[in-house]
Amino acid sequence: MNKKKTPLLLLCIIGLIIPQMTFAWGMTGHRVIGKLAEMNISQKAKNRINKVLDNTSIAMVANWGDFIKSDSTLAYTAVWHYKDIPSGLTREEFDKQALTKDDGQVVYQVLRLIKELKSHPNNAMDLKLLIHLVGDMHQPLHIGHPEDKGGNMIKIRWMGRETNLHSLWDSGLIDMQQLSYREYADYLFRTQKFALPVFQQSMVLDWAWQTYEAAQIVYNSVSDVKNPFYYDYKYRALLENCLSDAGDHLAIVLNYLYGK
Ligand SMILES: [Zn+2]
Repeated sequence: MNKKKTPLLLLCIIGLIIPQMTFAWGMTGHRVIGKLAEMNISQKAKNRINKVLDNTSIAMVANWGDFIKSDSTLAYTAVWHYKDIPSGLTREEFDKQALTKDDGQVVYQVLRLIKELKSHPNNAMDLKLLIHLVGDMHQPLHIGHPEDKGGNMIKIRWMGRETNLHSLWDSGLIDMQQLSYREYADYLFRTQKFALPVFQQSMVLDWAWQTYEAAQIVYNSVSDVKNPFYYDYKYRALLENCLSDAGDHLAIVLNYLYGK
């Protein structure tokens, strides 16, 4: 009897642990961003990227950056996904901090990968990481504050479950919409603006600053968490701006790297 009980107990423990692990934007969020980028890039970029990704779609490789964190030989990439920055900085102070490699590296790594891919566009690993990290850079709490580890330390109750503010913005609010990634991407493609200017390096810091400002709104939203439906009503527009900006910005970068 005991032999049968142990695996069941283990499964229960694993079941309790897994929802607490943060996967950044969650599976659906990253795929929505990848799909939106795919819908916006030029045909030439699409063809070239298809070859590098061996016919896998941008949406379906968009979560790979999170999967590899559990491979001990690639665990060093875990700090590439975020950048914790203290609140209240001026734009000038922010730019300086954003590029440092302590307390996370997402801005630094996005710029580095763009540079690497410009000279080595066939590096599939770099491309998959870039797709993922441009997405992460637009999750407000991936440019959150160091004292609460980007909202991970801010415990909340959401839909009767213990979770944290970071996780709510990775996946809780997205999952509440009950849309597949394709349905969500289709909806955002029809309702949001996609500008697609020519890429310039300085844009990456502008995008990070925009996320830093969005993070402030998310931090101030905690008192509304107790009513999930009101929270959804009040903050879904911000969530959808972040997702569609991420798709737009990823398309700008991919057009720059593969559009010629
Ligand atoms: Zn990530």
